[in-house]
Amino acid sequence: MLKKILIANRGEIALRILRACHEMGIATVAVHSEADSDALHVKLADESVCIGPANSAQSYLNIPALIAAAEVTGADAIHPGYGFLAENDGFAEQVEQSGFVFIGPRAETIRLMGDKVSAKNAMKASGVPCVPGSDGALPENDPDAIYQIAEKVGYPVIIKASGGGGGRGMRVVEKAEELIKAVEMTRAEAGAAFGNPEVYMERYLQKPRHIEIQVLCDEEGHAIYLGERDCSMQRRHQKVIEEAPAPFITPAERQKIGEACVAACQRIGYRGAGTFEFLYENGEFFFIEMNTRVQVEHPITELVTGVDIVQEQIRVASGLPLSYSQKDIELKGHAFECRINAEDPYTFVPSPGLITSCHQPGGNGVRIDSHIYQGYTVPPYYDSMIGKVCTYGRDRQEAMAKMRVALNELAINGIKTNTNLHRDLFNDTGFCQGGQSIHYLEQWLQKRKESQH
Ligand code: ADP
Repeated sequence: MLKKILIANRGEIALRILRACHEMGIATVAVHSEADSDALHVKLADESVCIGPANSAQSYLNIPALIAAAEVTGADAIHPGYGFLAENDGFAEQVEQSGFVFIGPRAETIRLMGDKVSAKNAMKASGVPCVPGSDGALPENDPDAIYQIAEKVGYPVIIKASGGGGGRGMRVVEKAEELIKAVEMTRAEAGAAFGNPEVYMERYLQKPRHIEIQVLCDEEGHAIYLGERDCSMQRRHQKVIEEAPAPFITPAERQKIGEACVAACQRIGYRGAGTFEFLYENGEFFFIEMNTRVQVEHPITELVTGVDIVQEQIRVASGLPLSYSQKDIELKGHAFECRINAEDPYTFVPSPGLITSCHQPGGNGVRIDSHIYQGYTVPPYYDSMIGKVCTYGRDRQEAMAKMRVALNELAINGIKTNTNLHRDLFNDTGFCQGGQSIHYLEQWLQKRKESQH
């Protein structure tokens, strides 16, 4: 088993990893920027190292500083969390070349999945269903060929950057007249933003849901799936509320897609925790991308399966087999997660600053993953998410009732948060019905805006 882990992250995920380490008897090294000296992960870690100024590029993204911190503290592994360097194949490679264990997949797997064209090709080859579209990247300077591909795929189509991420580098095209201009614009933007101008085409699904499958794999070739999460409540392609299991997905559907993901993992030699993201429409799953890290919304899967995903990541990185085989995995009950952001609930403008007082809910079936405390100042430099409220119940109704109570109890003063948005959604008939598409929240926000004018 690993003995000392450096956590190359901040915020709630740094705390999440730190807790798993301490539960397993593993020492922790926190790293922090100058803006995060008062952060909880720094206070609770066994050791901490300041790795640079507030600016992420000079601190949490500073590879030489992170590796130096691991060297001076004698850590044997680095856990990247999510965001920052978690899906940077160069980082994974340098960590391993420097003699540390990278808690995640191999660098070449991250590279394969980081490029959406190569990821999709790998999935197709493994029998994972993909969104119909171009066979790889679109040709350059061949408008006729591109028109032909679009005719075959069928309008509307979506042009996507191979190197894209975070909901950026995509453009929907309704008709042939707009096609070539859209391809050229997406190509130019992708080149500037991701350093890779390659783009590809997919059919634009009209009312899909976002459903993703959690997997875990070890070095011995065991791979299991932990059911699915429904992450359709999104604003600007950012998830706001997630739930597990996904409403109306049948055990047979779950098993079929889960087994396809497991087969793909075995084919590509996947290691650690990962997520296959799908769009789901009219009873069909379509792969869109794979995330090669622990995700923000992993707690709801933990609640319905009882598996500690971060502990399993650490076990696998230590060279141990998974603690579970597929037959041990049983979905029980229902869980929700609300992402709490330091932002105005109506305009979504970030609201960093001093938390003058704070009460976090608790009780049976309530899990809070958060790094905030009374007197903590939310810095303006990083992601505005300040925590996650999760609830667990015997069924969807009970988990919802618990979430309503938890949200009503949650009180964060001094800064604005999106708590009221969550309160409203948990009292909205459409959301409470379940199974809404990825457009539901945007349309709901639009309606709310109109009714306020
Ligand atoms: P990113 O890596 O930027 O998150 P994804 O490929 O995961 O990009 O797509 C992000 C979001 O864009 C999806 O969750 C969905 O809302 C929308 N999207 C992507 N591809 C399609 C498609 N073929 N049809 C409809 N919507 C899509």
